[in-house]
Amino acid sequence: MRSFFLFLSKNKSLTKLAKRYGFKFGAGRFVAGETIEQASRKIKGMNAAGFVVTVDHLGEFIDNEQEARESAKECVHAITVLAKEELNAELSLKLTSIGLDISRELVMQNMRMILDVAKQHQVNVTIDMEDFERTEQTLHIFKELRNEYSNIGTVLQAYLYRVEADIEELTAFDPYLRLVKGAYKESHEVAFPEKKDVDENYRKIIKLNLLQGNYTAIATHDEAIINYVKQLELEYRIPKERFEFQMLYGIRIDLQKELLNEGYTMRVYVPYGRDWYGYNMRRLAERPANVMFVLKGIVNK
Ligand code: FAD
Repeated sequence: MRSFFLFLSKNKSLTKLAKRYGFKFGAGRFVAGETIEQASRKIKGMNAAGFVVTVDHLGEFIDNEQEARESAKECVHAITVLAKEELNAELSLKLTSIGLDISRELVMQNMRMILDVAKQHQVNVTIDMEDFERTEQTLHIFKELRNEYSNIGTVLQAYLYRVEADIEELTAFDPYLRLVKGAYKESHEVAFPEKKDVDENYRKIIKLNLLQGNYTAIATHDEAIINYVKQLELEYRIPKERFEFQMLYGIRIDLQKELLNEGYTMRVYVPYGRDWYGYNMRRLAERPANVMFVLKGIVNK
């Protein structure tokens, strides 16, 4: 089932169809709106309740220069709306949405344009991590830009064998790192095939990153992992200011509230836009029970 939804998530024809027919098929369960203006109304409420946010303009695997430039301009627009509305929110983006698969020159131009505006408005930008084919390039770009900008972070995936070495190397860059289990279908040659090994490696890299002194965003809905982080906090007296929890919009809201009430920084990843298809398919792959929400969405239209 997981493989089936991950296969669907990368299907370009279905992505285009979904985009053309707009905001349908239960997308609202995981997506905050089609525009940043719609999303920002929801973010305002979330901020008022104590949550901080990272906003993601949906889009990935773009292979057309004009679309990549439009996507980058939308990121700039989102940053200016977040600043104007005085929202406590950062921006997350995927490099393939702004030209990674087209040319290095284009993606760097777009990133610098976004980071300049973000810096001006004191907004942080996190580069999401995509599939393994793009890991090396993404980290290379992150390192180059980290030398120029302080408002940039990225993501490392626990399912990759290389992740520990990446943490060791990135520590020299004083990085803001979001640690996740990993959402793509990867070969056993590069990633742990068994969930129990991914979970074990996730624990290992969380501890390593925290003890290296890097600011750590732990992005998971897994209560066992969250409890492990709380144990580390006590055992190593790690101040709450050195880490935060992150979860996806619409998932485990009960747990999000619990962590907030316990005094932790709780950041919610809020996606918006018309290109919701690949994102939603990955959420179905993580939990096939979510199919029910999507089916209900179709019935209710
Ligand atoms: P799992 O072991 O998959 O799930 C633990 C429990 O959480 C499940 O039993 C269930 O109760 C609940 N749960 C998990 N997923 C769902 C769901 N979809 N719907 C309902 N309940 C669910 N991955 C990347 O590869 N690159 C990224 O840049 C990236 N950024 C992310 C940013 C954030 C803020 C988060 C939270 C995740 C991100 N991910 C990213 C996805 C991540 O890699 C995992 O695929 C995803 O978080 C599911 O794994 P889990 O850690 O929640 O644990």
